[in-house]
Amino acid sequence: SCGGLTVERTSCPRCGLPGPGVCKNCNIDTVAYKNTPIDMKRFLEEAAKKIGLAKIPDAVKGAKGLLNESKTPEPLEKGLLRARTDVSIFKDGTIRFDSTNAILTQFRPQEVGLSIEKAHSIGYEKDMDGKPLESPTQLCSLEVQDLLISEAGAQYLLKASKFLDDLLSSYYGIDRFYDASKKEDLIGQLVVGLSPHTSVGVVGRIVGFTKASVCYAHPFWHAAKRRDCDGDEDSVSLLLDVLLNFSREFMPSRIGGLMDAPLLLSPLLNPSEIARQALNIETVAQLPIEFYDKTWQGAHPSEVESLIPTMNKSLGSDHWTIRFTHPTEDLDRGRLISSYKELPTMLDKVKEQLQLADQIVAVNAADVAVKVLSTHILRDLVGNLRTFTSQRVRCMKCGSKPRRVPLGGVCHRCGGKLVATVFRSGVEKYLDVATEMVERYKIRPYYHQRLDLIKLELAETFRPLPEEKAQQKLLISEFA
Ligand SMILES: [Zn+2]
Ligand SMILES: [Zn+2]
Repeated sequence: SCGGLTVERTSCPRCGLPGPGVCKNCNIDTVAYKNTPIDMKRFLEEAAKKIGLAKIPDAVKGAKGLLNESKTPEPLEKGLLRARTDVSIFKDGTIRFDSTNAILTQFRPQEVGLSIEKAHSIGYEKDMDGKPLESPTQLCSLEVQDLLISEAGAQYLLKASKFLDDLLSSYYGIDRFYDASKKEDLIGQLVVGLSPHTSVGVVGRIVGFTKASVCYAHPFWHAAKRRDCDGDEDSVSLLLDVLLNFSREFMPSRIGGLMDAPLLLSPLLNPSEIARQALNIETVAQLPIEFYDKTWQGAHPSEVESLIPTMNKSLGSDHWTIRFTHPTEDLDRGRLISSYKELPTMLDKVKEQLQLADQIVAVNAADVAVKVLSTHILRDLVGNLRTFTSQRVRCMKCGSKPRRVPLGGVCHRCGGKLVATVFRSGVEKYLDVATEMVERYKIRPYYHQRLDLIKLELAETFRPLPEEKAQQKLLISEFA
């Protein structure tokens, strides 16, 4: 409370002896935390007072416990300010908005909510043909680190910018940075894009908005996040948030705890460093007639590669003009939300996917079925069965989850009844669909046998269902 710097003190977790390194008595590592009662009300009131908050927000979300090694918490003030602006954080301390990646190479200022003046001020002075940008309907080439965020994303980042401004002014005592009151005020601001399971954030810049539930960006930008360029879901955070609130100290100390966090930032994107597949984009406005002739002969893609210039050819130069064969009138006149997101359950998604496969002549439905079976359904069945047999139990009364089933058969804390956390219905969820798929598409014996083995294992684990219940099972004929 005096504002001075603090020093980390460690002590033995067993006997309490203070000191760095290893405890002389117990020969175990000392730690920077210990159990002690604290006056939470006083801490909260002091924090609220410090940032000039007249009233503590009704609901302030916290965590049950700290997972990082030194059990370092964030300043309470940050949590209070976030609760006031109704934004929540990720385990690393940053505020994120997740959206599906979609690629974009050209845009009209008008269709993304960018005025001509603003376009000029952020560097768009010429259109894609090099003519001066004078009308909001001229097509411009999207710069490699520029992106469009969804309306919902814009509203969320707007709230995040308010939180950051409040944090700067009331906690750090310096000037507000964003001062954004509407989404257009976010144009030109820098963000950090991050893919799941990676730890390098890529800096990008907001240049406009889309009604679609996606993040439109240059294929290079999505590729720089180390992903296939389409369909995956990545997150976007405001750069200032990452710089101010991210800390490696907050990250869980267990294995894998450092994933999904911007441990490194990549401020400038170098096209020669991204995955080569991102360069497989044709750059021409017209495909030559030879190309169409080759398609009739069913030529291998490598045979026609030389007929169509791709970005691979531009590598090494500064010239990244990408042309297109079919123009569109308005970005937002297409489908705005992926049906993959709209379909509620995995079964619905599978059903629709197979129906599409059945309808499209160029698609081999049996191949699709094999892919879905081998990458999702069979794995899920096996995984769920394993989870079932090694599941933890939960006390119905106090909610405690003992690590192993107690021999007494009741909760060791309160004597309450113990119940399972994984159920048979969850394990067998995909069984009927899998069976139907294997039969309907005459799938090769390998998968047939794998499914039979799984069924055998299930039959050994569960008692057979009573007759009338068995009849209520779903048939895939309802699905495909
Ligand atoms: Zn000790
Ligand atoms: Zn209990």
